[in-house]
Formats: sequence, structure tokens, C-alpha cells
Amino acid sequence: MICCKSCFSLKIPGTWIEFDDLDSSVSHFINESIAWNQDASKQNSNLSLKQLDPQKFRASIDCEGDYHGIILNNTIKTEIQIKFQVCQTCSRQAGGYYEAILQVRTKRKSILDEAVEMVYNQIDSAPSDFFTTEAGPVRGGYDFQLSSTEKARSISRDLMIKLGGHVIETNTLVGRKDGKDLLRHTFGVRLPSVGVRDYLFMDDKVWKIARLDKRRAKIVLLSAPYSQKTVEVDSLRNTPILDESLDVQIVSNRLSEYQLLDPFTFKTVEAISPKDWKEGKIRALRYGNDTFFIWD
Ligand SMILES: [Zn+2]
Repeated sequence: MICCKSCFSLKIPGTWIEFDDLDSSVSHFINESIAWNQDASKQNSNLSLKQLDPQKFRASIDCEGDYHGIILNNTIKTEIQIKFQVCQTCSRQAGGYYEAILQVRTKRKSILDEAVEMVYNQIDSAPSDFFTTEAGPVRGGYDFQLSSTEKARSISRDLMIKLGGHVIETNTLVGRKDGKDLLRHTFGVRLPSVGVRDYLFMDDKVWKIARLDKRRAKIVLLSAPYSQKTVEVDSLRNTPILDESLDVQIVSNRLSEYQLLDPFTFKTVEAISPKDWKEGKIRALRYGNDTFFIWD
């Protein structure tokens, strides 16, 4: 069997199969190599392995099968010689191979952090042939060198769907292979500095971002008449974003009249609940010297 010496992937015609360790790789190779009688059903095998030296295993396989109603057993004893090579993924990784550059840009640190975490999660959950050769913070954002153009493109699309913004794809010619141009793709992802669930202060009122779709944001007014509208994300560039909301304690209430404890000033204030508000959560936001109550 042919095995990668650094990741223990097993070479089979046309590709490499990944394994966590050498034993698993050898076991798979042996189990796949057993030639069963076509008529045998309920095939069952039990493998025991002993490593003789770095490149040699002794195997004993107890096999059992149902042959036309008769249970037949056989024990196969064999030795496996391993030839070590380096798989494509490991040689690419060692050689600093990359096909694409993903550039994440945003002015807001919390959004950048969220985006960077999303990219790393995608890399970690992908098969090992998708990897980053180099990644790190740069001025205005974070860059990733990625081993797959296709994956880089789908990640940049995912970022845009989740966080809004837009992607600019550019190519540079890096050489020629087999008469074809070799291109390196760069995906410049520009994320807005507002995010879903942000509270904004606009026209003396508090709004919440309900949805981001590329360059547009759906915003909801958090006081009567609770209207919604869609605005260009770019138009929110100078709109103040409010800090995290705080939970509000109810001091007392009678019908729709409430006495609330303002968590910013620790003063009791009177407020009227919205018409069809059913006992839920009340939160407070602060802008300037004013506290705004949100009835969820
Ligand atoms: Zn490998």
C-alpha cells in the first residue's frame, strides 16, 4: 500500500483517502482488499494488526459469511508492506501553494472578528485539501491565502450573504501551464460597518437592523408606529450605532402604565407599554442623555 508519510492518507487510484493515523489507513486498505465470494452474505471480518517495523504490519483477519445458509469461517494471515510518499495536499502545503487571496475589509472591528472567525470555521470543517498557507491581519482588515479558488469564491459569497457588503474579484496572470494561462484570483470582500441586530439612532428615533442584503439594509423602527423601510447600507455610514442594550426591571405596573428602573441612571421612570405588548422583555439603550426603552 502507498501512504502519505506526513498525514497517513492512503493512495487509491485517482485520489488519496484521509485517515487520522497509520493504523486506520492500514486497516482500511486490508478490509478493502479482502476478496469475498459473490454468493456470501452477512459478510463480517475482524482485523488484528501488529506493527513489525515502521513500514511493515502483520495482519490476522477472521472472516465469516453466510454461504447459502451455511456459516463459513476463514482466518487470513498476511503482511503489509508500506511505501511512503507525500500526498498532493501535503506537498502543496509544504510548498506554500495557494490559488486565491481573500481580502476581508471593514472599518468595524467586531464585524471583522466575526468574518475572520467564519472563514477559519469554513477552513477547519473542509477536507484537508482546502487550507490556508498564510493568513493574518493587515491594515484595514485580514488576508487569507487559500488553496482553492472555488472555495474562496463561495466563502466570499457566504460572508456577503451573512454580513452584507460586496465582493470584487480580480485576476493576475502568474504563468502558463499546458498552453493555458494560470490565474491567481483575489476576492476583495468589503463588509459594511453595520451588522444585523445593531441599533441605530436616526431622526431622533431608535431603529434596529433586521436584515442585510448586499448593499441594502432593512431597518425597523422600535417605537410606534413600528414601521419598516429599506435603505442603502452606504447611507448609514454616519449614523450613530448605539451600545449594547441593558435589561430593564419593572418596578410596578397597572394595565399599560409601567414604572421602570432606568439601568443607566438608576432612576424610576414612568412609561406606557405599546398597545398589544404581551409581558415580554424590556431593554434599554442610551444615546446622549436619553434612555430609550425597547419592548420585545
Ligand atoms: Zn499527506
